[in-house]
Amino acid sequence: MYKVTSCLSGRCAGLTRQAFCLPGLAKFHRGSGAVCQQTALKYSPKDIPEMPSCNFKPEEYKGMSKDQMMEIRRKNCNPMTMKITYYKKPVFIHQGHMQWVWDVDGRRYLDLFAGVATVGVGHCHPKVIAATTQQLKRLWHTTNIYVQPPLHEYCEKLASYLPDPLKVVYLTNSGSEANDLAILMARLYTGNFDIITFRGSYHGGSPQTMGLTSNSPYKYPIATGSGCVNAVCPDVFRGPWGGSHCRDSPVQTIRECNCAQGRCMANDQYIDQLKETFATSVPSRIAAFFGEPIQGMGGAVQYPKNYFKEAYKLVRERGGVCVADEVQTGFGRTGSHFWGFQGHEVLPDIVTMAKGIGNGFPMGAVVTTPEIAASFVKAFHFNTFGGNPVACAVGSSVLDVIKEDGIQQNCLDVGTYLMTEMAKLRDKYEIIGDVRGKGLQIGVEMVKDKASRTPLSPEAMSVIFEDIKDMGVLIGKGGVYGQTFRVQPPMCITRKDVDFFLAVFNKAIHNYMDGK
Ligand code: PMP
Repeated sequence: MYKVTSCLSGRCAGLTRQAFCLPGLAKFHRGSGAVCQQTALKYSPKDIPEMPSCNFKPEEYKGMSKDQMMEIRRKNCNPMTMKITYYKKPVFIHQGHMQWVWDVDGRRYLDLFAGVATVGVGHCHPKVIAATTQQLKRLWHTTNIYVQPPLHEYCEKLASYLPDPLKVVYLTNSGSEANDLAILMARLYTGNFDIITFRGSYHGGSPQTMGLTSNSPYKYPIATGSGCVNAVCPDVFRGPWGGSHCRDSPVQTIRECNCAQGRCMANDQYIDQLKETFATSVPSRIAAFFGEPIQGMGGAVQYPKNYFKEAYKLVRERGGVCVADEVQTGFGRTGSHFWGFQGHEVLPDIVTMAKGIGNGFPMGAVVTTPEIAASFVKAFHFNTFGGNPVACAVGSSVLDVIKEDGIQQNCLDVGTYLMTEMAKLRDKYEIIGDVRGKGLQIGVEMVKDKASRTPLSPEAMSVIFEDIKDMGVLIGKGGVYGQTFRVQPPMCITRKDVDFFLAVFNKAIHNYMDGK
């Protein structure tokens, strides 16, 4: 049973038009006599949970057809663009407003993936638009060979969000670039070469960061990883050790343990693994340890509570610096703190950031101590766009909005609610293995069954994934085996949005179990 969204024949149900279409599209539905376009909807609105209302009226889409876009995608875009496209029936996004996006047919989606954890304060946030427009009218571009006010206003403001002595900022265009420069600074400062990251981590796709990234689909068969070692990830759900109170999350794993209060045997075991990496795989002196406070692409993997504290100590004993990759966890997303590392009660030597820093504007940053920053002046580094005045105006206004809109608190409230309610679905369905995360950095790991914790197959994952999208919600996928659904929405979502998502998720799992 398929209903249509964009119908040229006038035969579509009024209900479908009302619920999903732009007012302007209604004219397409009046008796042209032509056949229905290819966008078939699997569900009629009455068969799916009701989407929260939204007063915003998007523009009517008048651009090229979907077929034309796909043809261009095949012919003129690198085939990687096609390979990485989500869904059998892709989503053609035309416009966004806060937590909502509309496709070219005028269908509205609740965006719980934010263009991969990037649109932090909401699509096209009016205050960010106003600040950006003002700067666009004043000065678009100049570089560090001149001195321009927005860069200085922004560097001072960004630094004020970090604890001492993390006060020296270098602006980049992306997260990969920020991590590239963090590698460079760590090596120059320490005089050492080797770097440790976790298996399952993602730190970028540039030839150098590809060595840090530990997820084989993202690795090319070229010499990239020189000096990079991927250590055992202390994943308390999937890894060999884990129990019932290891992690800093409103929801613990389904694994049991009999650790006394304040003790964590899983942590001890994983720290032993790290010691073994030091003993076997790197020289006695290392340059750095890179860690995401909560893994992003890895599927919101969390480590035992004290792991970072102990690991940082071991790294420093070997001459290395500790780098917190806050590309996904920064800017309030974890709810309890502004930065993910603060939840681990550690102080990194270098912090890298991107994604949420610009709410979707391409920018990134490396923030470090004056001593480590000084290593960078051993040669010239020129970056045409890093610190661009428009990017700085965007970044500055994003920081203001996070404060003014109570974004961090919203992450804590709404994220905790989402995870707690999702844990009830985990208890109901055998194939939901784990619910985890902090704030709005959330993972839902899917399994064949709870006893084996074997990852649910990619085929099953994609059936459920497509169904959730067909019911009007966009989420992400991650994990080394693609087994984890990721929820990293614009941080302005509400409890009503969460209730809608939970109903959709419940229905998608139910449908899958029914149709198996
Ligand atoms: N670090 C982390 C944790 C990331 O998730 C990503 C991107 N997914 C990067 C670094 C690389 O950022 P970019 O895509 O902006 O280069």
